[in-house]
Amino acid sequence: MAYAITRNCCNDASCVSVCPVNCIHPTPDEPEFGTTDMLYIDPVACIDCGACADACPVDAIFPVDRLRGPDTAFGPINRDWFRDHPSDHAWGAPSFPRSLPGGAGDAGPLRVAIVGTGPSAGYTAQELLRSTGAEITMIDRLPVTGGLLRHGVAPDHQSTKRIAESFANVFHDPRLRMHLNVEVGTDVTHEELAAHHHAVVYAVGAAADRRLDIPGEDLPGSLPATTFVRWYNAEPTVPAGAVRLDAERVAVIGTGNVAVDIARILLTDPDRLAGTDIADHALAALRGGRVREVVLLARRGPEQAAWTRAEFLALRELPGVELVVEDHPRVRAVIESAAPGSRAALLAGLPFVPYGADAEPAAGRRIVLRFLSAPVELVAGADGRVAGVTVERTAPADGVGDGRGEGAGEGTGDGRGEAAPGDGPVGPVAGTGERETLAAGLVVRSIGHRGVPVPGLPFDEAAATVAHEGGRVVDPATGRPLPGAYVVGWAKRGPSGGIGANRACARETVDALLDDAGARALSTPAGSRRDFEKLVRTRRPDAVGLRELRAVERAERARGEAEGRPRVKLATVPELLAAGRRR
Ligand code: NAP
Repeated sequence: MAYAITRNCCNDASCVSVCPVNCIHPTPDEPEFGTTDMLYIDPVACIDCGACADACPVDAIFPVDRLRGPDTAFGPINRDWFRDHPSDHAWGAPSFPRSLPGGAGDAGPLRVAIVGTGPSAGYTAQELLRSTGAEITMIDRLPVTGGLLRHGVAPDHQSTKRIAESFANVFHDPRLRMHLNVEVGTDVTHEELAAHHHAVVYAVGAAADRRLDIPGEDLPGSLPATTFVRWYNAEPTVPAGAVRLDAERVAVIGTGNVAVDIARILLTDPDRLAGTDIADHALAALRGGRVREVVLLARRGPEQAAWTRAEFLALRELPGVELVVEDHPRVRAVIESAAPGSRAALLAGLPFVPYGADAEPAAGRRIVLRFLSAPVELVAGADGRVAGVTVERTAPADGVGDGRGEGAGEGTGDGRGEAAPGDGPVGPVAGTGERETLAAGLVVRSIGHRGVPVPGLPFDEAAATVAHEGGRVVDPATGRPLPGAYVVGWAKRGPSGGIGANRACARETVDALLDDAGARALSTPAGSRRDFEKLVRTRRPDAVGLRELRAVERAERARGEAEGRPRVKLATVPELLAAGRRR
């Protein structure tokens, strides 16, 4: 029986490289790879060897006949992708891992600093360790590793977090040194990193949130998704009291996977979350909270929703939570006439309900999808906290903009913005002037992340990324590379794509770095590895190394074991440092 890839697919293509018959697509060198929600197995070509299932880091691949319940949908989903992509997927030119015998021309090994310890950093280190004799220094501003894997991936997605296990092997490699609780730009500068390494790779993600730029945006009770997600993931810069769940209705602006994560966490039965690594403070707040209803606000139509299919299907299946669509003639028409396999077809069969300013929160728990509704103002109640969100009804604005709507951000190229005549609301939308205010005691603005400048590096303001070409940091004024400086992940591509997308991204950056090393274009570091360690100790006496990190890991797992959970996260910097000292 053929295998199928299911909802947890991380897209990192570990399965592609082990498939002996090349039946998993799109591969990293096929154009659809950059935009696909997930990878698919061709059931006709699959020889049932199971190599892909063994290699899958998130346990997402199963024989089709072993799929049960909602997962049975993934057999046809895999099969149908090949119906829509009928190329014969010929083998490409063979490629072989590269190896550099030593460093960049000088005596010692290639020495690379990686700033960040999230997925893009992990894949970069993995690639360098696997294909070169490089020595690596990893640096993170937090006293714990993981980036978005620890502080972004939702706690009920434990299988995705399993990628962290493959990075743990990388982090424990004897050629890698870890300096955590050290901030580049504050504790050490780019110039200092460059003076002690042949190359510096920035894997710093996109730490800020995009702004709506509407009145009331910063009222108490209006939070960016970055804060909300960090809060439930025990990120130590977000205090336990940062989120209040005393309202019955929460409005979430945006329809990306982060908005879906937030809606799911808010309405999942806390007893089900209690077996995860959710922050203790978040679990307590959810248990004691009053939230019954989440309204997801989309400024465009169902065909332009940003969620991926697997994440949306999971929302449809959330136990004890009703999923409904605001009844609007245009939205109803789009869903009812949606072509099979289209984005809007995912909503087929959901109940339509009237939902305006006078709507009372439902008796049970429910999620309302309200399309064609652009937020124009957040309004305050008598206590000065947010009490509602005013939305303006939108309608298609043919011939306007780029097909994704004003401010849509970096193009995803996923077809969400492609106009399809007769398909109802498509691409650009314009306000109709029709406004109403929906009551909501908490508003979460989930409209995407934004990169922040890295001190000492050129920044591309328009893309909100480090200015680069193929991973080489460049000076935008001259187009010339900044020697020895590289970028990877969301800081390079902008904030889109799941965890696994970083693998191909890291490979591109490492290729550029190794090309430069091979061309003797990297400067010999003036200081040694030991000099750098001395510098860090001077600047940051409470820097955290691998030994302390292991102690934190042990402490969190021990607390988790006692409660039947994978771990109980330590949620503050002092707690993390104290656990590290108890090694
Ligand atoms: P996203 O996918 O870019 O979605 C942003 C959403 O915000 C879109 O619905 C967008 O609508 C809306 N938006 C933007 N500006 C707006 C405005 N001014 N007013 C109203 N709405 C606005 O961002 P994300 O959800 O933060 O996700 C980031 C990336 O992480 C994505 O690639 C996502 O798939 C990935 N991720 C994956 C998972 C997972 O696989 N489980 C989980 C979390 C995140 P328009 O389309 O109209 O611009």
